[in-house]
Amino acid sequence: MAVSPEDGEDLAAGVADAFQQAELGIFSRLAKALGTGLGLDSWATDRRDGAGTFRRLITGMLGPLFSRGRKAAKEAATEAERRGVAAADEELGALSLNLPPPSGVHAKRGTEKITDDLKTVEHAVSSQAMSIYQRVVTEVGQAVEAGTMTRLQAAAKALAKFADAGITGFVDRAGRNWELRSYVEMAVRTHVANVMVDAHVDRIESVGVRLVMVSDAPYECDKCKPWEGKVLEIGGPNGKHQVTVKQAGGGSVTVQVEGSLAEARSKGLFHPNCRHSITAYLPGVSRKPEKPDTKGVTYKDTQRLRQIERTARKWDRRRAVALTDEERAKADAKFKQWRKAARDHAAKTGLPRKTNRERHDAVR
Ligand SMILES: [Zn+2]
Repeated sequence: MAVSPEDGEDLAAGVADAFQQAELGIFSRLAKALGTGLGLDSWATDRRDGAGTFRRLITGMLGPLFSRGRKAAKEAATEAERRGVAAADEELGALSLNLPPPSGVHAKRGTEKITDDLKTVEHAVSSQAMSIYQRVVTEVGQAVEAGTMTRLQAAAKALAKFADAGITGFVDRAGRNWELRSYVEMAVRTHVANVMVDAHVDRIESVGVRLVMVSDAPYECDKCKPWEGKVLEIGGPNGKHQVTVKQAGGGSVTVQVEGSLAEARSKGLFHPNCRHSITAYLPGVSRKPEKPDTKGVTYKDTQRLRQIERTARKWDRRRAVALTDEERAKADAKFKQWRKAARDHAAKTGLPRKTNRERHDAVR
């Protein structure tokens, strides 16, 4: 057993579910609030007057979902530390006897980091709910004034546009834009993975093991290719060097090391969504990792599934903002079509998927 950022996927899902619900809930409430009284000439004024009520409605809905997200984050970090320690104990075998249970120090730090990231997301969700509300009112006013559309048509068009975009503004260090759920998943997974790796490394270090070996990952993971199957020293110097360690059966052995663990991490090992892992390296006991059997499934297949899931979620938001039965039926058909595509792709490739990625029933 070993720990890898990929192992954090199930742990991130609980947090991501809460935020996906928040996003979907906002669009469905936007449609309800803005779709009211469209036949009245006082619509724009009424909606502006109703902005405070809408704000309270949104705040009331988001509060419990944000708490749920934070609770899930804490649980994820706690479970991550437990898994990191359990993985280390399994690798260490008899060496791990008499070691204390997980201290919780890694879980605590991980929870703080996730919570920090989530605060930004929470702020984006709350503030954008209000700004979309205001912008729809303005855009409808402009369209009606221009005489090109009815109020209903203009409201439907504006809502569809914002629903397609979703809650935006999540940009990673590489400048890429992320959809809300994918961003939350990525952020949580990254922190959870660090907790697992740190807890694992601390544990093996506590019994004097200084070396770890990098796995051979399934699918493509170019950034980590140079480290595959290589031995790294915890806390050692950078670059290739040799380390002399004691062997379990007595005597010592010199091991060729590729660099330090910190060096490998700074050069990309355990990047977000990385599929590599490390195990304690015990000379004479540890073996070179075997290439896992991916059964012909490629990295592209995994990316394709994520893309299909994002499209399904887009149609779910479209369904939430539909102002007419016709629009709702169209969005519903599209949503079901994409959900089926996700199921089919997962069945064809054997890739795991969580149905929550596309929708959550509880909000409606
Ligand atoms: Zn990797």
